[in-house]
Amino acid sequence: MSAVIFHVLTLFPQMVIQGLSPSIIGRAWEKKIISLNAVDIRDYTTDRHRKVDDYPYGGGAGMLMQAQPVYDAHKAVTGGRKVRTIYVTPQGTPFTQAKAQELAQEDEIVFLCGHYEGIDERVLEEIVTDYISIGDYVLTGGELPAMVMIDSIARLIPGVLGNDISSEEESFYNDLLEYPQYSRPEEWHGKRVPEVLLSGNHKKVTQWRLEQARARTAERRPDLYEKYREKQLLIKQLARHKRNNIHLMESLTRGCAEVLYCDRTALAQEHTTAEENPAVSQKHSAERGSAELSVLLYNRCCRTCMAFAADMASGRAIADRIPVDTELIIVSEPFLKELLLQRGYQAPGSYIQMLYPQKVSLPVKHKEIFPLTMEHFPYVCSRYCNDAQCGPGIEEAYIRERIQAGAMYGAFVEGRQVGFMGIHSEGSLGMLFVEEAFRRQGIASSLEAYAVNRMLEKGWTPYGHVSAGNTASLNLQEKLGFYKAEKTFWWLEKTLANST
Ligand code: SAM
Repeated sequence: MSAVIFHVLTLFPQMVIQGLSPSIIGRAWEKKIISLNAVDIRDYTTDRHRKVDDYPYGGGAGMLMQAQPVYDAHKAVTGGRKVRTIYVTPQGTPFTQAKAQELAQEDEIVFLCGHYEGIDERVLEEIVTDYISIGDYVLTGGELPAMVMIDSIARLIPGVLGNDISSEEESFYNDLLEYPQYSRPEEWHGKRVPEVLLSGNHKKVTQWRLEQARARTAERRPDLYEKYREKQLLIKQLARHKRNNIHLMESLTRGCAEVLYCDRTALAQEHTTAEENPAVSQKHSAERGSAELSVLLYNRCCRTCMAFAADMASGRAIADRIPVDTELIIVSEPFLKELLLQRGYQAPGSYIQMLYPQKVSLPVKHKEIFPLTMEHFPYVCSRYCNDAQCGPGIEEAYIRERIQAGAMYGAFVEGRQVGFMGIHSEGSLGMLFVEEAFRRQGIASSLEAYAVNRMLEKGWTPYGHVSAGNTASLNLQEKLGFYKAEKTFWWLEKTLANST
């Protein structure tokens, strides 16, 4: 596994190194999960007094960092390669948890820290890919903003936090602030820890935490709470056709998708009726179904869009809003598929969506099933990446990322690996493989059951997309208690034509 590299172009490299070395980020650096490279811009000045600033043309207060040393420092770090380069500036888009999640997918990032009144615009135009601010206030330099961003990005990289799921329950996950927490002693200053937390009843604890998170968000961040409520309403409406919409619902409930397009009139109508008269709302919705609600979701982490369009007009509106860096689009309407084919995407195959609606875990008969580690990477790559059924474009990097995310499971017989299964980055079950000699022995169904149970443990509803022609897999899933969606799904991939 190669370390994720953070380069920081700064006038104060020591400040960055000293600020990030202690504690969790420092340990991740020691373990080579990340690498920090603080570069002194002054080392690249051609001025014999090591000066890097000068007066701004047109006058005005303060000095400006000059273009040449910044450009040369950047060139020394990137060697002319295209590397994501962030200028931290109060003039940038606000830094958010979603942005941190997106940036945590990069292998290498350059942070450029300004000082004085900022940096000559001409060099920014040449090297910067993103302008990001940490808030609407002005600091003396970009070092603290760069450190803030590196800290929040690095802790999302697998392996940096000891417990990989801990970032899934924190503030901003799913648009809610985190619930209050308590540690020993049970009573302090006459205040007792809420009884429910001592009950040992996990279901009640989860429910209590959700209620607290909602109440806290409504009180402290009404703006965020409004977003949360709107999302919940959308999920409720999508739930009317659960088998067809489970992929959309799960992306929203798991907190990994943002809504890029939603037919707000349909949603607002639903909202008002539901608040004024819940009974009418139910009847009204049952008659109408969710067919009128067009929606486009985007999972920034895996650059995947999921869309449902009620008609051609909303299909076009959706197609126009698909981010340029999207690598995969999952759709279920033939006209939307055609529209996207015309825009240069390709649909290598069609899929059946399968949903496991039960909350009960499945028996895993084959006992030798474990989460995979990088030791198993060559095995998975040699089987999966060459398997024609998996379709083209399955990159080795994807398998590496899935293993590192703890989302791949292997089946073993007397210690030898004979198969695997995983959870795709956009959230569906898949990648099932069992060696020919070990088929028809219940290993595939055990792998499937194991993966289903992992999803249930996380509070997710398991679903998957099975290649339309793969009857063996469809039969297996039905036997395990999965239900088929009524619609066919297409996975549209980026082609060379639209990748520029
Ligand atoms: N004159 C600049 C302006 O009005 O936009 C402000 C320059 S500030 C004094 C110096 C440097 O600190 C900036 O170039 C930037 O790198 C960094 N900086 C200051 N406030 C920041 C913020 N809120 N977010 C990110 N970077 C910031």
